[in-house]
Amino acid sequence: MKKILIPLAAAALLMAGGACQKKDDMSNNPFLKAYETPYEIPPFDSIAYEHYLPALRAGIAQQQAEIDSIVANPAEPTFENTILALDNSGEVLNKVAYVFFALDESNSSDEMVAIAEEFYPLFQDATDRMTMNDALFSRIKAVYDKRDALDTDQRRLTEDYYKRFTRNGALLSAEDKEQLKALNAELSNLYLTFNKNLLNATNAFSITVTDSTRLAGLPASSVAQAAEAAAERGLPEGNWVFTLHAPSRLPLLQYASDRELRRQMYEGYTSLASSGEYNNLPVINKILQARAKKAKLLGFKDFGAYMTDNVMAKTTENAENLLMQIWRPAVERVHEEVAEMQALANAEGADFTIAPYDYYYYAEKVRQKKYDLDEAKVREYFALDSVRNGIFSMAEKLYGVKFTEMPDAPKYYDEVTVYDVTDAATGEHVAVFMTDYFPRASKRQGAWMSEFKGSSLNADSTWSRPVIYNVGNFSRPTADAPALLTLDEVETMFHEFGHGLHGMLSRARYKGQAGTNVDRDFVELPSQIHEHWALEPELLAKYARHYKTGEPIPAELVAKLQAASTHNMGFTTAELAGAALLDLQYGKLNPEGDIDVAEFEKNVAVQLGMPAELTFRYRSPYFKHIFGSDGYASGYYTYLWAEVLDTDGFELFKEKGIFDPETARKFKENVLEKGGSEDPMTLFVNFRGHEPSVDALLRHRGLKPSSPKAKLDSPSGK
Ligand SMILES: [Zn+2]
Repeated sequence: MKKILIPLAAAALLMAGGACQKKDDMSNNPFLKAYETPYEIPPFDSIAYEHYLPALRAGIAQQQAEIDSIVANPAEPTFENTILALDNSGEVLNKVAYVFFALDESNSSDEMVAIAEEFYPLFQDATDRMTMNDALFSRIKAVYDKRDALDTDQRRLTEDYYKRFTRNGALLSAEDKEQLKALNAELSNLYLTFNKNLLNATNAFSITVTDSTRLAGLPASSVAQAAEAAAERGLPEGNWVFTLHAPSRLPLLQYASDRELRRQMYEGYTSLASSGEYNNLPVINKILQARAKKAKLLGFKDFGAYMTDNVMAKTTENAENLLMQIWRPAVERVHEEVAEMQALANAEGADFTIAPYDYYYYAEKVRQKKYDLDEAKVREYFALDSVRNGIFSMAEKLYGVKFTEMPDAPKYYDEVTVYDVTDAATGEHVAVFMTDYFPRASKRQGAWMSEFKGSSLNADSTWSRPVIYNVGNFSRPTADAPALLTLDEVETMFHEFGHGLHGMLSRARYKGQAGTNVDRDFVELPSQIHEHWALEPELLAKYARHYKTGEPIPAELVAKLQAASTHNMGFTTAELAGAALLDLQYGKLNPEGDIDVAEFEKNVAVQLGMPAELTFRYRSPYFKHIFGSDGYASGYYTYLWAEVLDTDGFELFKEKGIFDPETARKFKENVLEKGGSEDPMTLFVNFRGHEPSVDALLRHRGLKPSSPKAKLDSPSGK
């Protein structure tokens, strides 16, 4: 996923004589000075906990001054003196927010948690105050009313600001504005609680195995990891600890012959944060109620309508229609997959029917039987450093950029690696790129991309280039092997790197349109399209080399990998589409009081006809995408929406050659460089030559199109 940073375009510019210079102790605050580091990478070594809140307050105070000066301008409102002035402001606030948001996710601590409780509400309050400033809005509206005379990107930026303000209550009465402000503050706190519960609940769960026979079937790397986890907890040899973190949980579910062990892990995961000290169920109810009130206040029929109003899909129904064209064929395939698994289990003498916690395990067995593919063997060709070479080779061949490590660059953790990204032809600096790939207790789960600095064209026509980072939770090295990635982890690295390229290569001239500042159902196109290169033989030959011998991956193994690539696609697709459909159903709710969340989930599953062997990819108490922030609420569908775009787009590369310079140029110039400066459908058509259809996705996933009339009835749960 991409971490969405709340855009705070109208934050303050640090001006001489500002509030930040009132106190002496501010003079040492690194956020209040120019960064004297290479390419303005944040000077992590000089940033201390006590710097965040004072810098935030100084930034907020000056934001007010900045807005006041835009408003007090006696000249008639123009794009430059109003929209662009807003877009260029907020240097200090953005600097502190970029660093704080990043480290709160990837390098948390008790201190950061304590600061966060003040930081987020203050930040949200500042955003609210800006978007509820009537005088500022009337200037924006004056530019908006004459927008047809502007350039395309200027018109879009003006429309974006206008919508941002009206969506935040600019057209509301004073009394309603106060209510909206209270609801935003409440939601911001609820998200914080949701995420804190989730992190604590994840860390609180572990399974300790003391009988080595229970480890049967597990790959050596998992056993080694589990032994190290036990040692870290001070347990003696002969103990193995498994956790809910993906590199521990997934191999266990996939390989452990001990059915009881799989059940324990599966139930631990699917009941995560749903009872006890870290229970997210009451938090979800409060979120749903506050969201419904907010939507109503802003004149939308429900929160889903509010969330889809300003994206490519336009309505919940459009998103749902697309998902149902995918859901039906996926479920048909699930039934086939389960039948195949059951037959295999029966042949082995099993006396049970396939349960959800058997799915990963038997899917793997079927894979081995059908494709004779041993994932542990495959991993030996995907050492983390090799895969990183793979993404860099891909970028160099497609887009002509080179990655050179900067060993002395500032970093926030010693496992972070920093690269100078340059134009391979001219040597010109393009961006800074950082990778932070290993799990630790202070990092949340998953993988994401964001930035420490955006990009834009300066007034003197020079470029301000970005600082971009990728964070992951990939398998760690063990005592006797380097980090060997699973295929899923390989694809995740390509995915986040695709987001990274969107940020690094941006040539949109305005900050608010740079890189990943696009409609959120378009943002996953650059990430997902680059996943396709991971398994292309031409690139594999370059990067996938055995970690011991350096031999390239054998051609027959590549052929097997490709044959196996549509394996288990019923499960994968239905899991994803199911979670997306669940999310859209939440968006339709207008609950008066508490609902029974578990019951609601069950009703959605029944309405959809979800197979008994499946559950949603994320159950509600750990569905961070939709309850950990507004980020993907009524927007989890965007992954599949984007896949419709990326599979259709990649078919052009397949047709012309995966490194065809002309196709790469078209993608770079029409999509990667453009950011949000043009309508996404226009950008796609300019690159591809036609509008996307769902057919390429179904072909890619090996699914058969279903009846076009597929439609989901609204489940109960009002
Ligand atoms: Zn993503």
